[in-house]
Amino acid sequence: PVAAGDGGLERFQSQGKGRGLRARRRFAVGELLFSCPAFTCVLTVNERGNHCECCFARKEGLSRCGRCKQAFYCNVECQKQDWPLHKLECSAMCVFGQNWNPSETVRLTARILAKQKTHLGRTESEKLLLVKEFESHLDKLDNEKKELIQNDISALHHFYSKHIEYPDNAALVVLFGQVNCNGFTIEDEELSHLGSAIFPDVALMNHSCCPNVIVTYKGTVAEVRAVQEIQPGDEIFTSYIDLLYPTEDRNDRLKDSYFFTCDCRECITKEKDKDKLEIRKLNEPPPAEDVRDMIKYARNVIEEFRRAKHYKYILCELLEVCELSLDKMGSVFADSNVYMLHMMYQAMGVCLYMQDWEGALRYGQKIIKPYSKHYPLYSLNVASMWLKLGRLYMGLENRSAGVKALKKAIAIMEIAHGKDHPYVIEIKKELEAH
Ligand SMILES: [Zn+2]
Ligand SMILES: [Zn+2]
Ligand SMILES: [Zn+2]
Repeated sequence: PVAAGDGGLERFQSQGKGRGLRARRRFAVGELLFSCPAFTCVLTVNERGNHCECCFARKEGLSRCGRCKQAFYCNVECQKQDWPLHKLECSAMCVFGQNWNPSETVRLTARILAKQKTHLGRTESEKLLLVKEFESHLDKLDNEKKELIQNDISALHHFYSKHIEYPDNAALVVLFGQVNCNGFTIEDEELSHLGSAIFPDVALMNHSCCPNVIVTYKGTVAEVRAVQEIQPGDEIFTSYIDLLYPTEDRNDRLKDSYFFTCDCRECITKEKDKDKLEIRKLNEPPPAEDVRDMIKYARNVIEEFRRAKHYKYILCELLEVCELSLDKMGSVFADSNVYMLHMMYQAMGVCLYMQDWEGALRYGQKIIKPYSKHYPLYSLNVASMWLKLGRLYMGLENRSAGVKALKKAIAIMEIAHGKDHPYVIEIKKELEAH
């Protein structure tokens, strides 16, 4: 296969991991390994009007599609470029009105089908891996997952009948399986969800819980930068999951979504697990059974909260769930325990949503230190937490704390995003403006 970037990378067979990506030369921390334009992508419905549907640029005064009045663009060029994909939804959104609600996976898959129809050769996004080569892991799907895929296929037929030529059901099952384990979500600098995309070359990288690269996004282009020194012959590893959690939780997640168990250094030594599951210091330590029960409780409440968010609970109720669970867990867990941090993070999110800036700041202040300890040295989770804190401080007129926090965010982002990334430039402007 053709080499990506400047030829410093190659596809290879990784022992026990199938195909993977390998360095052919040295890469320094912060260096760009390669970038990959989206094969196709879709802006999430909630961000309509904030970002251009085509290039994902975030700006004021976007102009809207005259037909559906729901898609927004920088200018006529962006609108024209997006039309072959937007037309899959434009008239259908008008016809279905409030009832138009395909999942983002369905929307993305519709675009893949349209793209594959019009674009036959290898694309710029597929220098090392073709979409057609994606793993689908069909043999490993349980009945629940198969049912979800059939629901997606029904929705695809229901909402997109007009402009798509459908392959047969078996081929669609394969395609949804492929999208489920190879799709990416695009987030902004505060890790808010912007949309979903397919980046074939990026999907070639295998997972590690101590990754040597980070993937960031510039518009609809994925960029991959080194966060550890990489030597010639080293395999390139990214992380597929949130690295906050202890080894068992990470591997449950990897098994459920990607059908493998990780054997990275972190997973073998479980070095950080003890700190991540830190128990509150009391006169006498709680019995092991209480700790086990509380971990079980924590995992349940995290799942429960995830569902509650989907069903649009009233915000105060969500905040109450957070506070109650924090109270309960706090009898056994230390504040730095990751399950405590998880609920504090959720509570902070609810506060931000309700524009309770002081409340959000209080949670953020508690989160940031343990976050920096649990996550790897360069982490987007840590950077975005510093950024949120910095912006909160600035908004609440605490300039010195604000400057300090924003500088912490920049220090990480200059490595992960690159010094010239629009997000970094924007934050530097915020520093000057105040
Ligand atoms: Zn645009
Ligand atoms: Zn439209
Ligand atoms: Zn691992």
